[in-house]
Amino acid sequence: MLWRNVQVKKGETMSLLKFTDYGIYCEKGDFFIDPLKPVKKALITHGHSDHARPNSKYYLAHHDSIPVLKLRLGSHIKVQGISYAEVKQINNVKVSFHPAGHILGSSQIKVTDGKETWVISGDYKLEDDGISTPFEPVKCTHFITESTFGLPVYNWENQEVIFNKINHWWQKNQQEGKTSVLFAYALGKAQRLIKGLDKSLGEVFLHGAVWNVVESDKKNYKFDINIHPITKDTPPAKFKQQIIVAPPSAFGSPWMRKFNPYTTGIASGWMAIRGMKRRRAVDTGFVMSDHADWKGLLKAVKESEAENIFVTHGYTDIFSKYLQEQGYNSQVVATHSIRTDTDQDDL
Ligand SMILES: [Zn+2]
Ligand SMILES: [Zn+2]
Repeated sequence: MLWRNVQVKKGETMSLLKFTDYGIYCEKGDFFIDPLKPVKKALITHGHSDHARPNSKYYLAHHDSIPVLKLRLGSHIKVQGISYAEVKQINNVKVSFHPAGHILGSSQIKVTDGKETWVISGDYKLEDDGISTPFEPVKCTHFITESTFGLPVYNWENQEVIFNKINHWWQKNQQEGKTSVLFAYALGKAQRLIKGLDKSLGEVFLHGAVWNVVESDKKNYKFDINIHPITKDTPPAKFKQQIIVAPPSAFGSPWMRKFNPYTTGIASGWMAIRGMKRRRAVDTGFVMSDHADWKGLLKAVKESEAENIFVTHGYTDIFSKYLQEQGYNSQVVATHSIRTDTDQDDL
């Protein structure tokens, strides 16, 4: 195994966590966090595919992450559940999971040996989405933060405002006799959208990938609005003037023909960039993300009260440099595989 050494200030030894080619490793506890490759013990922040990978021997995740881990990694996996704030001793370190507000079950993972306290935030957002347990700041000495949307241009509107826009769009499409096809990532964003749809307008039909996530955890995914799976036997007349929720991969596929006449929309943080909608060739874009915006990232960093900040994925260089200018001991680290704006996780 290769160690990717992290620069530390002179005279300071950094022992608790290491950044390796397998991902974040805790030597004292002998476990990895969101490992990139199969390992013996994997602590998982959340169920997205760039964090939860197959073939590790044992997994530890929040209870609410387990249904989706089994759905995606296989029902045979050995996974133990943990509650938020429950403290677990693993070898010589204490580990606890804390709400990250990103998707259902998403967690920041705190690791401490009494000298250093690290928080690995995974992906997070500060706004309460009504489905995941809202983000809670966790005090630490070393904070690992994402920076997916780490530029000042990313400044999210309140979600009520966005839901008004989406419901208004659906209503307008109905008046024009069209079915609305709304694209969103199958895990997280899709469920958040369904929850925000106005049931007085009609019913929601779900692509199989979205339906499977909802079905995997009926206890937690409860909606006022009626939801139905789309099957090959669903008569096309049923979709008339209703709303379809599907993953972006379905865009442009023959599968969409049965919704004719239709119009398309997409809900993504990337819609904040002009030109992105055109590139995706969808009719309408809604700016909605399950990641923190610029202000959210800064707030989370500040509230962690950490002296050492490690910035990973997204606009790492810019965000880390800004933190340095604010007086933080900040540096860029690689904990993920290369991500691009086409990464489904962020749609
Ligand atoms: Zn994620
Ligand atoms: Zn991620």
